[in-house]
Amino acid sequence: MPEAAGLLTGVGVGTGAATGTAVVLAPAARPPADEPPAADVEAATRAVREAFAAVAATLRQRAEAAGGTTAEVLQATALMAADPGLFAEVDRRLAAGAGPATAVDEAVEQFCEVLAASGPYLAERVTDLRDVRDRVVARVLGRPEPGVPELLGPSVVVARDLAPADTAALDLSHVAGIVTELGGPTSHTAIIAAQFDIPCIVRVAGALDVPAGTTVAVDARTGTVTLDPPADLVEQIRTRRSVRAALAASAGGPGRTADGTAVQLLANVGTLEDAERAAAQDVEGVGLFRTEVLFLDRASAPTLQEQTETYARVLTAFGDRKVVVRTLDAGADKPLTFVAVDAEENPALGVRGLRTSRRHPELLRTQLQALAAAAERTGRQPWVMAPMVSTPAEAAGFAAQARAAGLTTVGAMVEVPAAALRSRRLVAAGLDFVSIGTNDLTQYAMAADRLAGDLADLLDSWQPAVLQLVAATGLVSTDPGVPVGVCGEAARDPLLALVLVGLGVRSLSMAPAAVPAVRFALSRTAVAVCEEMARTALEADSPEEAREATARLADPEVLAL
Ligand code: PEP
Ligand code: MG
Repeated sequence: MPEAAGLLTGVGVGTGAATGTAVVLAPAARPPADEPPAADVEAATRAVREAFAAVAATLRQRAEAAGGTTAEVLQATALMAADPGLFAEVDRRLAAGAGPATAVDEAVEQFCEVLAASGPYLAERVTDLRDVRDRVVARVLGRPEPGVPELLGPSVVVARDLAPADTAALDLSHVAGIVTELGGPTSHTAIIAAQFDIPCIVRVAGALDVPAGTTVAVDARTGTVTLDPPADLVEQIRTRRSVRAALAASAGGPGRTADGTAVQLLANVGTLEDAERAAAQDVEGVGLFRTEVLFLDRASAPTLQEQTETYARVLTAFGDRKVVVRTLDAGADKPLTFVAVDAEENPALGVRGLRTSRRHPELLRTQLQALAAAAERTGRQPWVMAPMVSTPAEAAGFAAQARAAGLTTVGAMVEVPAAALRSRRLVAAGLDFVSIGTNDLTQYAMAADRLAGDLADLLDSWQPAVLQLVAATGLVSTDPGVPVGVCGEAARDPLLALVLVGLGVRSLSMAPAAVPAVRFALSRTAVAVCEEMARTALEADSPEEAREATARLADPEVLAL
């Protein structure tokens, strides 16, 4: 069906909406097609090195100013700008007669091709490396580095793709929304937008044709970008935003349904800084500490002491609140440079998650020791869970190892359909709790790569098949009676969160910014209604049908979120 004039669609990140003035990021300067060879190759080599060094220094400065996840991404990009292999390629081209900007451009492009072919996670790094290229090329050509113009009021930033350096340079107080032509739901832009609760739509075909200065409305829930939005849409979005803002400022506290059933509201964190920031917020603890983030972009694993220190600081930050730590989830979308894996045809189906410990048992052993040492040092016991558990034997093995290390509360993530269907057997193998990772569970239930933006319809956690797997897992909350949580993105959709509660889930973990809306939805809905919603959603044949049927049972104010 052709789309209405002035309406663009893509993949929404989060559920927010906003209006603002389109600020379109101009394309970067390119090397001239007829660039002459360097007159003095040695001088050109020096100049190019200096340009790379200056770009790396700027990125590091921005990293220091940014902090958190953004800083990690920028530091990693700065490392790429100092790669000796890359310099060697530039030198070779300069010596062979290429002009300096052309040499940089071609050498970086060659690296990008290698990255793009090395799996989806590294492929997302291509954007970062091309950003380095554009900055170096601009310096070599004596032009200003490409960047974000000054934002004067609520702006919707429109770009082909946003590099982390651009995102860090943005004055976030003026960024109402972000629209990109490329990227995916797990690209850096999306992660950073979620962290700051900025509505973001990725994979919007034709985004760059939006004229700068146009008023646009973005709705991450529907994945739509409306140019020159009609007054009623602007008003609807304004109401939604004021309801969300009022909620964020209104009564907090533990999650409770309208009839008083406790549903814990927890934070997802990836770095120590994320954790310290989350600890200052109104959350009941951490439901997912993605420890592999500490291992990314490193040449070797952090030592026992280093890990102990980090885990102890996280436990201390949360005091007597619950902290659920996930052990290393390496592989597929989260490759670690120091964990060698043979080339795999299908990395998402390969040696990843807990399976990594088959080849590198020392990584898991050290991590469990560090967690136990942190517990000892702080007097706070973390809950510890393994990612990508598929069988009762794996659950039993992990539980035994964790307990032997001195950890007392041991669980598993349910991310594989086999684990969902057999969750009772997994628990019987020795688990104290389970946490459903709906991102991977959706990927595996629907056989759709979670990084493939063009399969977004299949990657919708409202897919009834996914809900059925959640329902199978939810049964263990009553028999044998162990805690069941959700820590995938599904938990932060207020309406879907109600369905999850209806399926037996009693803790929801998400980006802290999403907590107030979910808390509000719970406070307006009794458990019996959540159960009715769950039954209705399971009867649907599509995600849209499930969402619509559930919405008919919801409090109208919940739908305004
Ligand atoms: C998930 O798969 O839902 C999950 C929470 O883990 P991650 O997104 O880190 O794979
Ligand atoms: Mg996962």
